[in-house]
Amino acid sequence: MYSEVIRKPASLSQEELIEIVEGLNANAKIHGILVQSPLPEQIDEPEVTVHLSPEKDVDGFHPFNVGQMLIGRGKLLPCTPHGIIKLLEYYDISTEGKEAVVVGRSNIVGKPVAVLLMQKGKMANATVTIAHSRTSNLREVCSRADILIAAIGRANFINADMVKEGAVVIDVGINRIDDPNTEKGYRLVGDVDFEAVKEKASYITPVPGGVGPMTIAMLLSNTVTAAENIGF
Ligand code: NDP
Repeated sequence: MYSEVIRKPASLSQEELIEIVEGLNANAKIHGILVQSPLPEQIDEPEVTVHLSPEKDVDGFHPFNVGQMLIGRGKLLPCTPHGIIKLLEYYDISTEGKEAVVVGRSNIVGKPVAVLLMQKGKMANATVTIAHSRTSNLREVCSRADILIAAIGRANFINADMVKEGAVVIDVGINRIDDPNTEKGYRLVGDVDFEAVKEKASYITPVPGGVGPMTIAMLLSNTVTAAENIGF
């Protein structure tokens, strides 16, 4: 793949960013555009997203693509949720009729993964619950899950008490915790207490590894899809 990285100072204005996006929309050499977040605070991210060409929106965040996904016609699906579905598919883990609990309701992970799992069709047909910081009795909700997806952003938050015996546990979280024994002084952990939960889960994804690399793979896959749809 041909690729360009456009780096701008954090003082960039919203108008300048939109101009860059529109330039890429019009550039026939480019089939996929990703606006890397987090963006500086003077920039209204959803406003920038609507300026992306939906056909080149390889993140799957444009409202057109979000709407298409909701009605089960998505072509460019958000990378992390899509990567989770692909992981389940690869390991031949059925979602049909299963109780899926998603902890987290962000637009980039929690909401879209719930939408994909509740669709009618293959690697879907699950009964989905979305939990968040206002959920009462989170432990009880989580322990119903046949498939538990944690997208919270809190280190080791999901403990063994919250997990049903034999559950499939997908850990999306990426959290830095201090570790003076490492060269960098920190290490990455997920939202799930891996060591304790692995004793109960039938499958569990590690952090690092697991969902993170799938996200990148889906970004590449979406770029190929976009190029095929637009034409070379
Ligand atoms: P957000 O901060 O946008 O969302 C976090 C969600 O977790 C919110 O819905 C929040 O609830 C919920 N939450 C926070 N605290 C609690 C709690 N105590 N109990 C229950 N729910 C809680 O995060 P993202 O979705 O963007 O990311 C989540 C994690 O996944 C992060 O660690 C991030 O780094 C990682 N990530 C990993 C990716 C990968 O490729 N592996 C890709 C994207 C993200 P409320 O809505 O009520 O505030």
